[in-house]
Order: sequence, then structure tokens, then C-alpha cells
Amino acid sequence: MDKTDFCVIGNGAVGMLTAVELTKNYPDKKITLIGPFTQTGSASVAAGAMHAVFGEIEAHFEDSLGDQKQFELGFKSKEYWANYFSMFGNDAKTASDTLIYLKDTKNPFEVANYKKATDIASSYGLLANPEKHHVEEYLNLTTLEAVNIIKGEFAFCPVKFFEQVTNFLSKSPMIELINDKAVSLDQNIATISSGRKINSKIYVVCNGAAASSLLSDYNVIPIYQGVGSALTVNSETLNFGSELVVRTVNRGGAQCGVHLVPRSNGTHYIGAGNYLAPFDERDDHRFETIRYLIDTVEEDIIGSKNAYNFRGSLLMGKRPRSFDGWPIFGPLSSNPNIIVASGWNRIGFSLAPLIASEIVGIIKDDKIRHINDWLPDRKPLSFGTKKECADFFAASRCANLIEHKLLDPSSKEYNKKYDELYSYSIKANYTLTKKLGMDSDFGMHPDLYGILQ
Ligand SMILES: Cc1cc2nc3c(=O)[nH]c(=O)nc-3n(C[C@H](O)[C@H](O)[C@H](O)COP(=O)(O)OP(=O)(O)OC[C@H]3O[C@@H](n4cnc5c(N)ncnc54)[C@H](O)[C@@H]3O)c2cc1C
Repeated sequence: MDKTDFCVIGNGAVGMLTAVELTKNYPDKKITLIGPFTQTGSASVAAGAMHAVFGEIEAHFEDSLGDQKQFELGFKSKEYWANYFSMFGNDAKTASDTLIYLKDTKNPFEVANYKKATDIASSYGLLANPEKHHVEEYLNLTTLEAVNIIKGEFAFCPVKFFEQVTNFLSKSPMIELINDKAVSLDQNIATISSGRKINSKIYVVCNGAAASSLLSDYNVIPIYQGVGSALTVNSETLNFGSELVVRTVNRGGAQCGVHLVPRSNGTHYIGAGNYLAPFDERDDHRFETIRYLIDTVEEDIIGSKNAYNFRGSLLMGKRPRSFDGWPIFGPLSSNPNIIVASGWNRIGFSLAPLIASEIVGIIKDDKIRHINDWLPDRKPLSFGTKKECADFFAASRCANLIEHKLLDPSSKEYNKKYDELYSYSIKANYTLTKKLGMDSDFGMHPDLYGILQ
């Protein structure tokens, strides 16, 4: 049996930065980081990765305490990224601002999200008008409803980030990197697939969408996978600027809009699709997502001349997504030596340095400073009233149909479809809360209807 002081399970952005923070704060302690060097299924590897705060805001922001809390944390994490950049240099940082646009689709969900996102950015003093040459250079659209710059909403390159962090960790004498997966975790022992057993004083479980498989003996909120597809395109085949991120707000369905993000390794990133499913090891893409991404980026952003020469690769990553949609963070009440950090869904890369610092805080003085509303063995949090769930479900699903050219927002069909989806949601919510034995006023997150029924 091997002994260690800290055993970190999972080597995505959260696990890697946790190992960095632990070694900085405890240079004499032994740290073991378990995770396949290929980072199979890692959401971090497939991430944008925008420090996306404003662009992810949705119309119901003011009604959702959870959304507000996540936004605040995302904003706060900027300070933590500044520390990371001063430690490792700025090579992983790419665009420094975001160009956000609203095309003329009359998609009510997108229009309302755009208004809310830009209103909030304006209230922070970060909204600006773009320069004329930026609009001409970065967009291919002749008619636009709106276009703005969000100042300071930067992006970073996961490839460079992992290169820097791996380099740092492999030079740290007290860290052992294990190229394997953990298969079980009981009270005091982690077993990896080679059969090796590791006894640690503290475990940090941050293996993303796979976390539930290690925590089945504990009463932890289930975690699913938000399967994400994206593309990276060789920048020389794209002939496109690298100063800005170009993005839409959330457009429904996939709910992270479309974005083109420069990376520091000679590629541009085009993202991203998302569908929710129970965790599995499959890595197949939904091709409609890929078609949609290429078509939209060509039409809205780069034009057919640039798209003609496209060359690049597909990326796949599994966003860790919890039952109620919120993160799962903190020590287990039944075993405080196990700290869980998962369920980060769409914001985990932005938050990674803050999460890592919070984990050190828990180990040091048992205190969570910022991420304190989402303990892993809490009662699931309601999305809202059943009517709020139904409105979100109907509006976002209609928006998705509009985007895929299956619904015209100005037709009579729109209201009919909206009403149909609304009624479906009300029914699904009653059936599922009953089936799962939850309080009758619990609002099940609409993303879950498909996988729980
Ligand atoms: C397409 C896409 C775009 C995104 N864009 C953004 C963005 O722009 N900004 C943002 O902030 N966030 C973004 N996200 C979300 C973000 O990527 C995630 O929230 C975050 O990366 C989660 O990090 P993590 O370390 O918790 O998990 P992961 O990155 O998933 O890492 C988990 C790691 O654990 C390993 N592992 C799995 N099982 C085991 C095991 N049994 N034992 C040991 N190791 C194991 C995996 O191989 C993996 O390396 C995006 C996600 C996707 C998929």
C-alpha cells in the first residue's frame, strides 16, 4: 500500500491546478495526481476556453440566485487567473476582449438573452461599441440587430495551459503523476485500475463527469455528462483575426451560443454543441452539431471564402453536469477527508484557479470562502416554479428549432409549438417529481426530462 498526503483524482483543469496550489502551499508534503495522460473525456481539453461571464447570461438571470452566484464567482476568478498568468507567463492568454453580436433572426430567446447580457455588462462599465473595422473584419453579416464589445472578457488556450502546468508538475519533486484511472474510493483507500492501492490523508475527487462512479457509496448528487463537440481549425487555413473572441449569446438547445476563439497554438476554436446523457465512455459526435457549427460560422463570421480552405480536427469533451445543474463542491459530511469538486458544467475552466485555491482553504482551516452553497450531499436545488421551468423549456427549445431552421419565429406555428412544449414541461415536471419521491413543488431542471423519463 502506497501512502501519500494528498491524492487528487482527475487531471482536468481543476485537478491540475489543485495539484499546483497544493505543492505551492505544502512544499514538503507528498502529492499524488491520478489521471490518464491522454485526459480521456476531459471537458477542459475541449473547452473554448473563454473566460465567459457576460456572454453566458440568460434572460432569467435576476430570477436565478444560482446564476447570479455563478456569475459572481466567474467574475471573481479573474483575480485568480491574474495570479496564474503572473506565475506561468501570458502565453496561454489569447484574445483580451469579446465581440458579441445579435443577428437578425427574431429568435425571442436569443434577443432576450442578448439584452440581459449587454445590460449587465453595461452596468459593470464593460460594454463598448466596436470599431467599424472590427465589425467588417470579424463578421460576415450585412444586417445585424446589434453588436458590442465586452471589455476584458478574455480567452485562453487549453493546449498551452496544460503544457505549462504539466511542465511545472513534472518538475515538482514531491508530486507523483499516475497515468491511470481510479476505479474505487472507500473511506481511506483509492484503488487504480492496475490494482495499486493508495492510502491518503485527504482525497480530492475532481474526475469531472465520471465522478459519480467513485462516489456511489456516498449520498452525493448524481453527475451526468454534457457531451460537447467543437472543432479546431488551423489558423493559416482560416485567415482570420486573433485579437477578439467572436460570439453569440445562448441560442437555446445547446445553450452556449456559437463562438470562434483564437488559440495560442496556431489554431482557432469553433464551439460548441452540447447534449446531456448519463455518463458513459463513448466518444461519438452528434453530426448535426458539427454541421450546424460549420454552417453558422461560415454564414455569420468568416464567409465562404475562408471556410473553403478549412482544415482541422474535431474535439470532444464531457462537461460534468449535476442533477440540479449546480456545482458539487466541498467535503463530504460523512467523511470530511474526501473533498468533491465536480459538476462545473459550462464554467469550470473559468473557475479552475479559484476552485483550486478554495480546496487549499478547506484543507488549511476547514473554511470555504466563496463556493459555499453547493455541498456534494446537499438536497437538490429547485430550478424554479413549475411555470418557470415550463417557460424556460418552451422558449429554449423553440429557439433551438429556429436555429436549425425548423421553426419560423414570426409564424403561427411558433405559438403553437411554444404552448405544446410548455404543457409537456408541466406534465414532465409533475411525473418526474412524483417518480423520484421529491417535494411536489420541486422544479426539475428541464434539461433532465429526456434522460429521466
Ligand atoms: C465544448 C466545451 C466548451 C466549453 N467551454 C468553456 C469555456 O469557454 N469556459 C469555461 O469556463 N468552461 C467551458 N467549458 C466547461 C469546462 O470545460 C468544464 O466545466 C471544466 O473543464 C471541468 O473541469 P474538470 O477538471 O472538473 O473536469 P475535466 O476537464 O472533465 O477533467 C476530468 C479529468 O478526469 C479524468 N478522469 C476520468 N475518470 C477518471 C478516474 N476514474 N480516475 C482518474 N481520472 C479520471 C479525465 O480523463 C479528465 O482528464 C466547456 C466545456 C466543453 C465540453
